[in-house]
Formats: sequence, C-alpha cells, structure tokens
Amino acid sequence: MDFDREQPIMQHISIDEAPTGDFGAGVDFRTLTGPLESTEMSIHRFRLDPQSSPPWGLHAHFDQEEVFIVTEGSVTFETFDGLVTVMAGDAIQFESGEYQAIRNDGSDSSTYLAIGAPADSTDIRVPLPCLDCNREELRIEVDTGELACVACDFRQDPRCELCGADEREVRLNREGSELIDRCRGCGSQTGIRPRT
Ligand SMILES: [Zn+2]
Ligand SMILES: [Zn+2]
Repeated sequence: MDFDREQPIMQHISIDEAPTGDFGAGVDFRTLTGPLESTEMSIHRFRLDPQSSPPWGLHAHFDQEEVFIVTEGSVTFETFDGLVTVMAGDAIQFESGEYQAIRNDGSDSSTYLAIGAPADSTDIRVPLPCLDCNREELRIEVDTGELACVACDFRQDPRCELCGADEREVRLNREGSELIDRCRGCGSQTGIRPRT
C-alpha cells in the first residue's frame, strides 16, 4: 500500500464545542465552517430562545444559495411573500437574491443549521431606502460597512441617527403585512410601509 500519497482527512467535531459568536441575547451561534475545514460551503448552527432572532433583518445574498434545516422547535421566515413557518424535521432553501429574515415566534427554543454555498458571500443587500434615489436595495460594503445603493451607487452611513448603533434592520410585522425599518440598538422605527 502506498502511504506517501496525500490522503483526504475527514474532520469530526462536537458542535457544542465549536467557536461561538456574539449575536445578542437569546442567540447561541456555532460556526462549523472552520473546524470542519469546509471550503465549498459555510455551515452554522443557531439556537434561538423563544421570541428571539439573529441580528439580521430582511437581507439577501446575491452570491450565495442558502439551506436551513430545522432540528428543534420551529422557525419563522419573513419573506416578501409573507411569513413561512418551518418545523423541526423540515428544511427550506433560498436561491441567491431571495430576501429572508429569521425569528423564533414559538414558546420553545428552536435549533437550525444554516448552510450557504459557496462559502463566502460579499454581495449582501438589505431593503432599506436610498437617501438619494429612494430605491430600496442597498448593498452592505464588506470593507467599510457603508450601505451603497445598487441603482445610483450613493453611499450612506449604516449607523442609527439616534443611538449610533450599526444595527438597522427591516422586519415584517407580526401579521406579515408591513415592512418596518428599525434600529435593533435603541428600538426606534424609522419607516413603516405596506408589503407589496
Ligand atoms: Zn440610490
Ligand atoms: Zn438606534
């Protein structure tokens, strides 16, 4: 047998020991991408306390497909087509360019795996209005964090005018009928419009 040839080596990890990240109260985040040495996809595990959500409102990856596999509880996805509830044992896929936001509307904690391919995503957009041309599609610039309009290229500061937090997000209301621009930092709402 030839042992000189370089052999692929599988990676075997414990998810609960994977590196964590600070995504706010009620969110337990584990990234498996690095420990698994995954190069073609990103893999993360989220556990959400009841009535909590990760710190991204409606957003779309224009350069990445995403699959979410719910393993415990249920997860509600906000989309431009309304609210979609995904139960444990179910999976949901979003094409690149599809807007979605995740929350746990239930009374139990929920757990899901988030898989993205390819692994890196740099074209991430949010449906916030451009201050120059009013088009509601801004790209988050990965190097500066600025919000750049995809229509006119106008760049604006992502920070909240009231509290300075860089945590603006767009969420659907509980009924799924309205889009609400809000700051996760101070809770202020900067815009409400009907979902069209
Ligand atoms: Zn613009
Ligand atoms: Zn604020």
